[in-house]
Amino acid sequence: MAFLQEPEPQRGTLLSVLPGISRIVARNPGVMTYHGTNTYFIEAEGGISILDPGPNDAQHVADILAAAGGKKITRLLLTHSHYDHMGAAPALQQVTGAPIAAFHESGLEGYTADIALFDNSELAGFTAVHTPGHAPDHLCYQLILPDGCKILFSGDHVMSWSSSVVSPPSGDMLAYYRSLEKVIARDDVFYLPGHGPVLPEPQNLAAQLLAHRQKREDAIMAALRVQGWSIAALAAQLYAKADPALKVAATRNVLAHMLKLKAEGVVVENAPDPNLHPDIASLPQRPPGPLPPGVTQAIIDQSRADTRRRFTLRGAAYSVMT
Ligand SMILES: [Zn+2]
Repeated sequence: MAFLQEPEPQRGTLLSVLPGISRIVARNPGVMTYHGTNTYFIEAEGGISILDPGPNDAQHVADILAAAGGKKITRLLLTHSHYDHMGAAPALQQVTGAPIAAFHESGLEGYTADIALFDNSELAGFTAVHTPGHAPDHLCYQLILPDGCKILFSGDHVMSWSSSVVSPPSGDMLAYYRSLEKVIARDDVFYLPGHGPVLPEPQNLAAQLLAHRQKREDAIMAALRVQGWSIAALAAQLYAKADPALKVAATRNVLAHMLKLKAEGVVVENAPDPNLHPDIASLPQRPPGPLPPGVTQAIIDQSRADTRRRFTLRGAAYSVMT
């Protein structure tokens, strides 16, 4: 996929993105966050809108306040309620008094935004676009620049540097597909993501992300047409060549697809068999290198097939609807 990279950005300072828009990259680099969360500054007549305040890091909050200089921060917009995007919101609100705008049903239990947004809500030049999938309360925000250029703050829905995590129960693969189709059908010229650099020709990458998920779903369906599978067994089968460190993510991903297929009535979840031991953690993986003496590939294959069969019969197996 045509992901973009960028050198590590300067910290603690405003970096210009597009006319009237700049960002501070928070000091939370990581495997899920790339160089860190993008906290966007959007200048308007009344003051500055901050989109995604970032993680609750005192230095990041101080950087934001310093970057605003004497200018008034008039509102805080959230793409979604994950900590790396909204953690700094309470601290910033305490200093600035700015109201927090977010989707009307928060992904955080018991949390209510000061300004409750819906799909298509308009606020200070922004139009909210409800895009659940990565998170149920995920909003993208469209802004039309003075020259007519349409941009979309795409949060974690579509990111330039990586695909999004869709992990149930808050992640919803069916919603994610619909939300990708939703943004692909729009004519935004640039996406400004929650992590990573500006994304030009954004519909191309969004379409690739959708095709990639569809390919994975096709592989799942092909396996299910042969036999029933449990989530763990199917993940071990489909991601056999992947880094073992990604095993948990792979399992969550297969589960997300399976719940989508179940919701669509394509796949059925079978009742668990109470007679089988439920605790088979994973398929055995042969260490790289030559086979140990006395062990043939046929023995390994048989052992794997046997384990796979047991996985198949393990609780909560899935099969194709007939
Ligand atoms: Zn997120």
